[in-house]
Amino acid sequence: MSASNLIDGRTIAAQVQAGLASRISQLAAKGVQPGLAFVRVGEDPASRVYVGRKEKACELLGIHSETFVLPETTPEAELLDRIRQLNDNPRLHGILVQAPLPVHIRQSTVYSTVSPSKDVDGFHPMNMGRLLLGDSSGFRPCTPAGILELLARSGVNTAGAEVVVLGRGNIVGKPLAALLCQKDRHANATVTLCHSATRDLPSHCLRADILVAALGVAEFVKASMVKPGAVVIDVGVNRVPDPAAPSGSRLVGDVAFAEVQPLAAKITPNPGGVGPMTIAMLLSNTVRAAEQFTA
Ligand code: NAP
Repeated sequence: MSASNLIDGRTIAAQVQAGLASRISQLAAKGVQPGLAFVRVGEDPASRVYVGRKEKACELLGIHSETFVLPETTPEAELLDRIRQLNDNPRLHGILVQAPLPVHIRQSTVYSTVSPSKDVDGFHPMNMGRLLLGDSSGFRPCTPAGILELLARSGVNTAGAEVVVLGRGNIVGKPLAALLCQKDRHANATVTLCHSATRDLPSHCLRADILVAALGVAEFVKASMVKPGAVVIDVGVNRVPDPAAPSGSRLVGDVAFAEVQPLAAKITPNPGGVGPMTIAMLLSNTVRAAEQFTA
């Protein structure tokens, strides 16, 4: 298998993080260490893994982090109180409340309670609104921002490109579509946002110069749906049974990688594509939050 058309998210994420190191040193010279709070409710195994990876990334870069684990049965009001305490904590410049939350907790209320100036996840309605308006002063959600960075640093020209985004989720598809259609240097695309009610979805995919799969359906994008020479970005993380694996399962993306890779001009591996960029952009938002705090 040729690796020549791979968009290596790990390498690009390392470049982003290397760029942050000097900004962290400048903050240190002012006596400030960026700080990030993780809030996890319950013991969802995937959430434990995700928070663990983010904690480790913070440690490696010299970002202070604190993790608050609340029981699954925590009332919503108690979680909101905890977030308000973190909003007032000057040691912590960013707050990340790990999804999914238990069903009795309203995600939108949680997102609205995080101070917009500490909303390094970019999910507060004020930051989402800024994103839609093309106002770069807000925090951008990490996964869509990471995808833009991947495209820009891989030399993919989005201006005028037909981009098809599969999935209109609030954390990936919708904000990514809003970012890509802005009149910005690394956007300016013609964006089509597809979902479960889209008629003849493959015909949309076949028009795409850049195809982004963010559905959460294992290996949904087949070779027959991809225009030769397209750039393919695979966001999905799906666990599928695999009797050969020691755990009995393995993770796959939303793209049938083996059959799509030979057709694509460039493609993200999965894992090793979008995932590392999501973490890099979280660190980037946290450093920016600390810089704005000290400004
Ligand atoms: P989500 O909120 O559940 O949204 C999924 C979207 O896909 C929905 O808009 C849904 O359509 C659409 N969809 C599902 N099945 C479809 C089908 N068969 N045909 C057409 N559209 C379909 O998911 P999300 O939170 O955006 O996440 C999407 C995927 O990205 C997941 O696998 C998630 O784990 C992964 N992810 C990865 C990262 C990373 O860092 N790598 C970060 C975030 C998310 P409707 O709206 O019509 O229901």
